[in-house]
Amino acid sequence: MSTPHQYSIEAIDSGAHLFSVSVTVAKPDPAGQQFAIPAWIPGSYLIRDLARQVVVIRAAADGREIGLSKTDKSTWQADHCASPLTLTVQIYAYDLSVRGAHVDTTHAFFDGACVFPAVIGQEEQACQLDILPPHKSIGSDWRVATSMQPLDAQRYEFGSYVAANYAELIDHPVEMGDLLIGEFEACNIPHAIAVIGHNHFDMARICHDLKTLCETQIRFLGKPKNLDRYLFLLRVEEDGYSGLEHRWSSSLACSRKDLPRRGETKISDDYRKFLGLCSHEYFHLWNVKRIKPEKFTPYDLREETYTGLLWVFEGITSYYDDLFLLRSGLISAKSFLELLAKTITRVSRNHGRHLQNIEESSFDAWTRFYKQDANSSNAIVSYYTKGSLIALALDLTIRKDTAGACSLDDVMRECWSRYGETGEGMPERGLESLARSVSGLELEDFFDRYVRGTADLPLRGLLATAGINLHMRAANNSKDMGGKPASNSSTPPPWLGATVKAEAGTSRFAVVHSDSPAESAGIAPGDEAVALDGLRLTARNLDARLRDHRAGDTVTITTFREELLMRHRVKLGDAPEDTCYLEIETDADSAAEKHRKAWLAQT
Ligand SMILES: [Zn+2]
Repeated sequence: MSTPHQYSIEAIDSGAHLFSVSVTVAKPDPAGQQFAIPAWIPGSYLIRDLARQVVVIRAAADGREIGLSKTDKSTWQADHCASPLTLTVQIYAYDLSVRGAHVDTTHAFFDGACVFPAVIGQEEQACQLDILPPHKSIGSDWRVATSMQPLDAQRYEFGSYVAANYAELIDHPVEMGDLLIGEFEACNIPHAIAVIGHNHFDMARICHDLKTLCETQIRFLGKPKNLDRYLFLLRVEEDGYSGLEHRWSSSLACSRKDLPRRGETKISDDYRKFLGLCSHEYFHLWNVKRIKPEKFTPYDLREETYTGLLWVFEGITSYYDDLFLLRSGLISAKSFLELLAKTITRVSRNHGRHLQNIEESSFDAWTRFYKQDANSSNAIVSYYTKGSLIALALDLTIRKDTAGACSLDDVMRECWSRYGETGEGMPERGLESLARSVSGLELEDFFDRYVRGTADLPLRGLLATAGINLHMRAANNSKDMGGKPASNSSTPPPWLGATVKAEAGTSRFAVVHSDSPAESAGIAPGDEAVALDGLRLTARNLDARLRDHRAGDTVTITTFREELLMRHRVKLGDAPEDTCYLEIETDADSAAEKHRKAWLAQT
């Protein structure tokens, strides 16, 4: 067996936020070994040019320095060298996100794509990683949490770890610090959650709930054959919410209020959101980490890798994440329908759904979804939210047209055996052809209209077949995200069609919706709100100011655009019915009742 690449990493300077990384290649390319740092991170479709954080890079062999030349923004080539070659890199690490690298006195975290150079041409070679304790006075009580396989490291300790190849090496994020660790087994597989940033919450309850959730998911598609461990890495922040999936772990950030306090038993909306995030990243174990688009087998980490299928991997996962909270008994059907109605609300307020289809949204993730600006909701659609509603519509269509004999679950099971278990990539039309063959239905029209087209999904009719009534109403106020019937205490304000955000002591217009009164009157994103009919206008009093008027009234809104005071005559409109809530039909016929029970069953 050939010698593995020997990597090491050490947080060398918590003040300058530096990792030192080295890799020794036993048999460098005789033509001059190339090394490259990824331009993007798997699971996050944005060119980040991670090599820009390299502050020092050197190569050496037999105790002498070897010349290095840079050949493009991410790649270095060493001079010819016949002996084992060591590349040493110092990397600035001060990006505190689930997909970053960060070193300070409190902890060190990295996603492997941010820190490890690939040995070009030898990416399939096994890798050994020495995770070294930080020197200086910090870190004496630090523990290490990673899903990487230990070689000689004790559990949660510094030491040597191994990965089968470079792709695996960068698929195990590592957290080092004063960690709180909870452990549980799900279907006899050891699981752990390592938390940094918060100590005062009910870890036993989280482990109990995650066990239920993970077991329900494992029973759905079956245990991936190499899944012998799993780790949730969680960073708790004042106001955080994000996650990145990996093959044996996930890297998550949540808000302090999301975690349950000891003694609480109710599932708060915040804790439900946290469990939904865990459910989402865990479902990716199957859907995107193992069932993958053909275009990702393999992907090229040096440039964009395009696929129109991100909606399958993020949209279907977003549909199942909340459904698994229901199936595992953590939330009720009513609570699930509330979450679904909130998603319908978000999509119905997104004008871009008329302009961009979901395949285009997936394909253009790199330059549009991941680079959003004030006009994005007018111009693009989210492959997460719209994708999850397509999954819902596809599920209900299959259930209805097969009289309950088949569902999206069967399609996903077939996806798993066809693509997940084999490692074969899913072709761009792979989901469609599987859905058709599994259900026996002619679904081309469905995919033409809703996947390749921009038609609104027929959710009202489809939900009615499962005995659910879909209601649309006007928003109660600018914070109303739907999910519940209208509040009796306040009438909806007339429609301006713009949002106002508090920002550094001022209030500014943020989003100006297409075809809205605000757009017609010439209000633009970034304008500083000054007054409405002579009274001060702020993010906090926007609803109250609007409620002083009725639809059809013309008001004057004054703004500053840069230094220029502007007056806008705005004719307020009727509040659009863009806010959804769902209710179970108490008088549904027995067929609808049967469909609903099958769809929303707890397993
Ligand atoms: Zn996801």
